[in-house]
Amino acid sequence: MLLVLDTKAELIHTTERVFRAERLAVPEPSVVRLVRYVQIPRHYRVAVNRRTVFARDGSRCQYCGSAAENLDHVIPRSKGGPHTWENVVAACRRCNTRKEDRMLHEVGMVLRSKPVAPRHRVQLLALCGGGSEDWNTYLIAGNGRREQLTA
Ligand SMILES: [Zn+2]
Repeated sequence: MLLVLDTKAELIHTTERVFRAERLAVPEPSVVRLVRYVQIPRHYRVAVNRRTVFARDGSRCQYCGSAAENLDHVIPRSKGGPHTWENVVAACRRCNTRKEDRMLHEVGMVLRSKPVAPRHRVQLLALCGGGSEDWNTYLIAGNGRREQLTA
């Protein structure tokens, strides 16, 4: 709202709500466009945890597609695998138990898609159910595919 009032961002979509001041009525923004590109600092990268990884992976096991219950490190922690978006996936108990702390090729398992970090915080927020429907048009999945996101 402040960015819009400050003409640093322009309104693209609004909600039904209107903010009123003495001589001003401004619809609540749901999508704005920054007039200038703003670099997002690296430390704003989204934390890798159960909630965020499950949101990215649609709560589906990334090996078999059934309902996920655990997080799995593709390259096991015991073999130096990092706790990063690229190495952590949602997994069902069965696949998790089958894989244990072995490499995929050792157990003949295959990932359904390559795990990647969400490109934007807002994308993940929307996946977690925190976003507005107006955002769907503007969100592109981390793997580069355009996806319809339903909260
Ligand atoms: Zn599975």
